[in-house]
Amino acid sequence: MGCRDIPTMLELEQQHERMIINEHRRNREHGKKKKPAPMTIAGLCRKANAASVKAGWQDEPRSFGDLIALMHSELTEAFEEFRAGHALDEVYLTPAKPNKPEGVPVELADAVIRIAQCCGQYGIDLEAAITRKMAYNETRGHRWEGKKL
Ligand SMILES: [Mg+2]
Repeated sequence: MGCRDIPTMLELEQQHERMIINEHRRNREHGKKKKPAPMTIAGLCRKANAASVKAGWQDEPRSFGDLIALMHSELTEAFEEFRAGHALDEVYLTPAKPNKPEGVPVELADAVIRIAQCCGQYGIDLEAAITRKMAYNETRGHRWEGKKL
């Protein structure tokens, strides 16, 4: 583990590789033959917003600020999972809610879903923004003007 228990990029890449290997192993064991096609970012935004509408979360208007606060809350939940001692790649179930996955990956997924829902609701082209910003980031200098973190 890197300094202050924050994983290094190499450790994250190794963790990701282990997750993929474990997923393939699980799929093989459960006889799954083919994964569904990967979802596009635009598709994720549409689907997340449609789920929000269907669940009644837009029966009354929620402000952009409400949605931002909900995004923050999911990141806080991810941090609380970490503080509780769960491994960063651990997904677990509890007897109280045996069908609800819990853990850092789930809370990070919730954050992404919240962002996607917001973009779907407001018609924000998240994929274009990500592409544009990542291209800009590649033009920035080492540690972006000397930032410490
Ligand atoms: Mg959550």
